[in-house]
Amino acid sequence: MLRYTPWAWAKLLHLRDRGDTEIGGFGITSTDDLLLVEDVVLIPQRCSAITVVFDDAAVADFFDQQIDLGRVPEQFARIWIHTHPGTSAQPSHTDEATFRRVFGRCDWAVMAILARGGAATARLRWNRGPGADLALRTEVDYQRPFAGSDQEHDLRRQHRRRTDGARLHPVAARNRARTRSVAEPPGGGVNLWSRDGVKRLARWQESRLGTP
Ligand SMILES: [Zn+2]
Repeated sequence: MLRYTPWAWAKLLHLRDRGDTEIGGFGITSTDDLLLVEDVVLIPQRCSAITVVFDDAAVADFFDQQIDLGRVPEQFARIWIHTHPGTSAQPSHTDEATFRRVFGRCDWAVMAILARGGAATARLRWNRGPGADLALRTEVDYQRPFAGSDQEHDLRRQHRRRTDGARLHPVAARNRARTRSVAEPPGGGVNLWSRDGVKRLARWQESRLGTP
């Protein structure tokens, strides 16, 4: 089951209904439950009715910010959420291809879709061993407390910063400076737990998201 907090769900509905295009981002999950979405973060993107292409610098900034907030990639880079302007929440061929390309090397990932008509789907892909696909129910967990107004304000402010000028705002600039001082992980493999590994993953993901 893929669960959303009431705050994350409300934000997702709001984003879905703001435009006529698909809109996409990442689900941010709780430390103790990687299938409980506590926030939805949009990445600056070009959208059409059927596609979403993330901006590369924005993805890198997003990864930087999340690492800076003390999160690990499992909490912010595994649940791909996007909306459909119509009534169907079934993944398109493009969605399936994107999901395979971008998340195919992660141990696991979730593709979640919310249609304007209200339908929602979520599927967990497990890539270890023979691999498996698991359909997940989508639920809003109303047991969770609603976010207070202060937190809501903070989230809005962060979101505005991210969407208005993520490349310029001081936190992102500081993150980039810090990233450069981190050594390459030994062996040359992508170490998802290091800051540098996350940057490389971001570049890698972008190169695939940008390829139709
Ligand atoms: Zn789609």
